[in-house]
Amino acid sequence: MDLPDEFFDSKPFYRNRDAAQAVLRDIKEHIKKTGEPHTWRHHTHSKPVVGSRIVYIGEFDLPESHQAADRHAPCPCCSPRAPKYSRKGKIAWFPDEHVIRMIGPECFQTLNPEGHWEAVEVFNREEAERRTIAYLVKNLHLNVPARDVIQRALPVLEAVDRVHGTLQQRINEVLRIDLWRHVGRGSLTVNVEGRRLKRTRGGAQEVETFLDVRQFAEFPGFPMFSPRTSRLASRAAGCAKRLSLIDFGDEVQERVRAMTTEEQAKAARILSKGISAAADIFKEANAIRNGFGPMSIANLKGWARHAGCPVHLAISGDECNFYIGSDENHPLRIEIPPTFWHRFGEFPKILTVANWEED
Ligand SMILES: [Zn+2]
Repeated sequence: MDLPDEFFDSKPFYRNRDAAQAVLRDIKEHIKKTGEPHTWRHHTHSKPVVGSRIVYIGEFDLPESHQAADRHAPCPCCSPRAPKYSRKGKIAWFPDEHVIRMIGPECFQTLNPEGHWEAVEVFNREEAERRTIAYLVKNLHLNVPARDVIQRALPVLEAVDRVHGTLQQRINEVLRIDLWRHVGRGSLTVNVEGRRLKRTRGGAQEVETFLDVRQFAEFPGFPMFSPRTSRLASRAAGCAKRLSLIDFGDEVQERVRAMTTEEQAKAARILSKGISAAADIFKEANAIRNGFGPMSIANLKGWARHAGCPVHLAISGDECNFYIGSDENHPLRIEIPPTFWHRFGEFPKILTVANWEED
């Protein structure tokens, strides 16, 4: 590579870290646009002094246009006139020389190994903190619409809890059957008589019958019969309560910056977990509701009528009522209020800090 001499001149314009930090965006934009870190106006292309101090302030990949080996960037540390690196290049500030160099990812190791690794560690920690702060500043306000969605869902969840609880009580106290044992794996099975050929000792074949268990229908609504108390409404209210802890109104920036690193990480967790846990509760509620839906009731009805159904039951129902009894003449009615069927709102899309991409 033929590089002009002035690339190698020292450009000592960065007396402190803040000054260097201030041109970070400019450098990254230049690299994105040109693919040439070494042509940034204040890049110093001379080789750093052995043992000199270093602070990493940024990382970059060359754009796709410069990923072919002959288009890689030259590195002032080890390869000043030949293509050397294209990914995880480092933007380094040299506090003793007051210059900025763009160098290969691990090149400085040969000049000052300890200094390099220490600087990498500090950089990674600072990057993680910076990312968490950026994530919080950008996403914390989502606690408001998320709590709103939960708040509006509470009466619906209460209705689902009540219907589920009433059904449980009827099954346990009146019907006294262990229905869960038969449906808890998500499918409705029936016992049928199977036939198979069997060879006798004498070598002849004979038909043998055996009891076979077959799937009658899938049963995604099986949580409707779960013996565990659902507590959907109180759990969702708990999510909303936790989310309210990170509602800082108009003071998000100030509050986030005033937190310790641990507090920031915790706030990020409260946000993403609070929303995803509430979304999971909605899913549970939907599974229970699915059990009371027309398709499910048709399947349950057919299953209960099947000669091979392992329990004695009669089931029927419509949008407002669910009937279950030991036979068709003794149905127990469970009322389904209209609220039970109300639709849930949509949660704002939220990612964890780890999965979040800055733009
Ligand atoms: Zn190098």
